[in-house]
Amino acid sequence: MKKVFLYAAMLFAALVFASCGDEESETPANDPAVKAGICPDANHPHLIDLGDAGKWACCNVGAKSPWENGNYFNYGATDTQSSDYCVEGGEISGNEAYDAATAGWGGNWKMPTSERFSTLNEKCTFEWITLKGTNGGKFTAPNGNSIFLPAAGRRCDGHEDGYRVGNHGYYWSSTSYGQGQRADCLIFDHSGADVNNDYGRFEGRSIRPVQE
Ligand SMILES: [Zn+2]
Repeated sequence: MKKVFLYAAMLFAALVFASCGDEESETPANDPAVKAGICPDANHPHLIDLGDAGKWACCNVGAKSPWENGNYFNYGATDTQSSDYCVEGGEISGNEAYDAATAGWGGNWKMPTSERFSTLNEKCTFEWITLKGTNGGKFTAPNGNSIFLPAAGRRCDGHEDGYRVGNHGYYWSSTSYGQGQRADCLIFDHSGADVNNDYGRFEGRSIRPVQE
């Protein structure tokens, strides 16, 4: 009888250890984005409603979670490896031939226009945070919802794996004006964010999809 009790105790202990282990890795409550109040559960990507600032994906093209940097794309390139960029310029949001969000994710996903980045920047409060080891900007809307943009750096000459990773975020908007090498871009670091008409369509930068 004593032996049976001992086996039962050992089995119980084993179950307790096993369930603790599972909890660490699999419970949605342990997802860093859920803990940070950004996502409702661990099934990324989500569509986050930021009120006037529109609806935004919770992660970048090429990322499976909000804290992953994802891929770099030249402005107007839908293939992350491509060295091409959109020379003609103009508005490429939702254009499958040039928009990496539409081409990569399909459906109604598209790159944010310059205006949407400006609205995001004006309506939301900016906070520099670290999410699961990744530095970046947390943009919180007046309705309380928020998104996290990793400071993924950018791909440029001599920095194929990324330049200023962890210190700066560079996110292409879909908007450029005429031929050339400039396009509007959301740029941020620990001190804040801005939307700039920036040189470098030929550089790989991050893409954060949006919907209407
Ligand atoms: Zn999410």
